[in-house]
Amino acid sequence: MRKRELTKQELIHFGSSERFGNMARIVVVGGGLSGVASALAIADSSPEDEVILVESRAQLGGRVSSIKDPKSGLLLDNCQHACFRVYDCFLQLLARCGARDSIKLQAKTDLPFLQVGGGRIASLSDGRLEPPNHMAGSMIKFPFLSLSDKIAMRKVIKELSEMTPEQMSALDDLNFEQWLIEKGQSQRAIDRFWGFFVLAALNIPVSQASAALSAFLFQRGLFGDAHAFDVGAFTSDLSDSLHPHLLRTLEESGVEVKLSTKVNSISKENGLKVCLSKEIISCEKIVVALPHHLTGRLLSEFSEIVEAVDHLEYRSLIGIHALHSAEVLPKSFTFAVCVDEPIIQMLFNKNSEIDEEKMPEGIGQWVSVPISCGDKWLDWDDEQFLEEYRRVVKGTYPHLWNEPDSFVVIRNRKATFAPLPGSEKYRLSQDLIAKDGIYIAGAWTNTDWPSTMEGAVRSGLLAASSLLNENWNPEKKWRWWPSPPKRRDDSWRTW
Ligand SMILES: Cc1cc2nc3c(=O)[nH]c(=O)nc-3n(C[C@H](O)[C@H](O)[C@H](O)COP(=O)(O)OP(=O)(O)OC[C@H]3O[C@@H](n4cnc5c(N)ncnc54)[C@H](O)[C@@H]3O)c2cc1C
Repeated sequence: MRKRELTKQELIHFGSSERFGNMARIVVVGGGLSGVASALAIADSSPEDEVILVESRAQLGGRVSSIKDPKSGLLLDNCQHACFRVYDCFLQLLARCGARDSIKLQAKTDLPFLQVGGGRIASLSDGRLEPPNHMAGSMIKFPFLSLSDKIAMRKVIKELSEMTPEQMSALDDLNFEQWLIEKGQSQRAIDRFWGFFVLAALNIPVSQASAALSAFLFQRGLFGDAHAFDVGAFTSDLSDSLHPHLLRTLEESGVEVKLSTKVNSISKENGLKVCLSKEIISCEKIVVALPHHLTGRLLSEFSEIVEAVDHLEYRSLIGIHALHSAEVLPKSFTFAVCVDEPIIQMLFNKNSEIDEEKMPEGIGQWVSVPISCGDKWLDWDDEQFLEEYRRVVKGTYPHLWNEPDSFVVIRNRKATFAPLPGSEKYRLSQDLIAKDGIYIAGAWTNTDWPSTMEGAVRSGLLAASSLLNENWNPEKKWRWWPSPPKRRDDSWRTW
C-alpha cells in the first residue's frame, strides 16, 4: 500500500475554497458497500484528492447491517447474508479493510438440500471433473431429481456455460422459466434446482426473472470455476463484521467520514454543491451511491436517470431469527435448502457461523431463516411465521424440538432491485452523467451482477474507475487492494 507523505488534514483547510495544486474535492453520497468501495478506491488511487463520504445513518455498511431487537437487546442481522468465493471485489474490500476474519469460506463447495419431514440431506458438491461438470458426481446421486431430469439438465448446463456475453444479453426480455421449459426442463428440475438458485441469488421467482441475469448466475456461479460457489458466512453480526473495519480504513486513508448526516440535495449552479442540513460542501466531483429510488430523488433534474429508475422495481427479503435455549438442529448442520418449501426456503445454523466469543449468552441454538422475495408474506404476523417455522423444524427433527425463547421477524421491503425481463437496460452506467462531474454507483447500476454485496462493491469501483480515468477491468483486482482468496489461502478462515 502506498504511504501518504502528509495527512489530508494537514493539507486541507476544510470549508475554504483553497486548493493545493491539482487537488480535487470529491464527495461520495452513501456509506453502503458501493459508496465505501468508491471512496476508498479513490483515496487509495489518488491520495492527493480530498474525499468526503456522507452517510445518513450512524454506521457504514448500508443494507448489510444489524438492528437492535428491543425485546432481547440483541443485535440481529436484517437478514441472513451469504457470500461466495466468486465475490472477488467484495472479498478484496474485506482484505483491504483488515476484515478477513469477518468471513469464513467453505474449503470446498457443499450445498446441502433437506427433505423437510423426512430429514434426509443430500449435497451438491464439487468433485474431480473440470467445470462445468465439477458437480456431476454429486448430481448423479442427488435424490431430489430423477434420472431424466438430470439427463435433460446436462444439455442446458453445457449451453449455459458456453454462452457468450452477447448471447446472454439477448435473453434479457425472456423470463428464465420460459427459457428452461423451451429447453426441455421438467417442472421438478425448475422448482427444485433452477428455481431455487434464482430465487436465492436474484431474489425473484424464476417465472419473473430475466433469463439474461439468470444465465449469468449459472455460468459465473454454480457452473463457473470449481471454487466459485464455496459459501461464505459472517463470523459476527453484520454491523460488527463491517462497520468498524470500514470506518477505520477510510479514516486511515484520509477519507473524511460524516455519519448521521443526510445529503438533502445536490446543486450544479456555480459549480457542484452537496447540501447537508448544516453546511454546503463545494466540490469538483460527486459519486451518488444510493438505491435506485433515492438516486432518482437526489438527481431529479437528470431526466435520463429519473426515467430509468421509474422502470425498476424492488423485491423484499424477510429475515427470521429463532433463538432457542437448546439445540433444535443436529450438531453437524450448517445450513440447508428446504426442498419444496416456498416460505422457509433455507435454514442457517448461526452457531456454526458466529465466533464463540461473539455468541450472546444463554442461546443454545440460533437459527436464521432468509425468505427471498417475501412480498406475498409481508402482511403475515409473526405468529404465522412461527407456525410455519415450527412445522418445518419440529416436523423434521421432532426429538430435538424446543420452543424458541425469542422469535424475531424483520421485513425488508426494498431489499433488492427486481431483475425482471427487460430490466437490464434501466441499469445505468456509472459514468452516464460524468460530463456534469457526477458518477453513480449502487448495486442497481450496470455491473452485470445481481443486487448483491459483490454487485455493490463492483459498482463503486466502476464509478471510481471512471472518475479517475483508470479504465479498470472488473475481472482484474483493484490496483491497490490485496487479491481475493484462493482455496487453501490460510490467511482466510474456513467454514
Ligand atoms: C435483507 C437483505 C438481505 C440480503 N442478502 C444478501 C445476501 O445474502 N448476499 C448478497 O450478496 N447480497 C444480499 N443483499 C443485497 C446487498 O445487501 C445489497 O445489494 C448491497 O448491500 C447494496 O449496497 P449499496 O451500496 O448499493 O446500497 P445501500 O447498502 O442501500 O447503501 C446506500 C447507503 O446510502 C445511505 N443513504 C441513503 N440516503 C442518503 C442520503 N440522502 N444521504 C446520505 N446517505 C444516504 C443509506 O443509509 C445507505 O447506507 C441483501 C439485501 C437485503 C436488504
